[in-house]
Amino acid sequence: MNAKRPLIAVLTGAGISTDSGIPDYRGPNGLWQRDPKAQELVTIGPYLADSDVRRRSWQLRRETGALGAEPNAGHLALVELERSGLPVRVLTQNVDGLHQRSGVPERKVLELHGTAHRVQCVRCRVRTPMAEALARVEAGEPDPACLDCGGVLKPCTVMFGEMLDERVLAQAAAIAQNCDLFLAVGTLLQVHPAAGLAQVAVDHGATLIVVNAAPTPYDEAAAEVIREPISQALPPLVRRIVAGDLG
Ligand code: ZN
Repeated sequence: MNAKRPLIAVLTGAGISTDSGIPDYRGPNGLWQRDPKAQELVTIGPYLADSDVRRRSWQLRRETGALGAEPNAGHLALVELERSGLPVRVLTQNVDGLHQRSGVPERKVLELHGTAHRVQCVRCRVRTPMAEALARVEAGEPDPACLDCGGVLKPCTVMFGEMLDERVLAQAAAIAQNCDLFLAVGTLLQVHPAAGLAQVAVDHGATLIVVNAAPTPYDEAAAEVIREPISQALPPLVRRIVAGDLG
């Protein structure tokens, strides 16, 4: 933290959105890991091959209604950090769009796992709003196809069996390399790319702060580890960062 305007990278995982009512589906105790039939619904092979899998997948998206979730105090604290004038970039594993919705400018948020707010045609690649596709499901189309070409529609999220977007990953790695402070919030830092980004930041001399309920492999490398619930921990932490008071 010796630069005049230190770059702050904030990596967020499922933990920041649980207070907004969004379960950690991907985590070790999440639905996708516990239930192979559920995981099939978000795995690209079965999804593309089997219209019954897609029907169940659309029903699940309709029922969970995650698009209506509201940001919580944790998200709002990061908005305050961004508005302080310090250069901030948010790298998120979440697909809920809550950072942008809470007020972080779109260009400052990198969505490592894509977004649940849009769908993409796997044939012609056109992207359209998820809300439109869900409205078609609601109106009686169990597996809505692309209106342009008839191709299969899938959420713009990175499903199991899919590669992460190389361009997004490269941008995230560059931010991790160049940041002075790296906040890891609500992520276990166990899987690619989260673990790799934390490692890159540490290797390049960034100060690491971990805010997560459970231990992570990077706790020892961290200058500070905070175990409190995220929506309680972030507001005071942000105030300290803005005040230049990280002890
Ligand atoms: Zn299409």
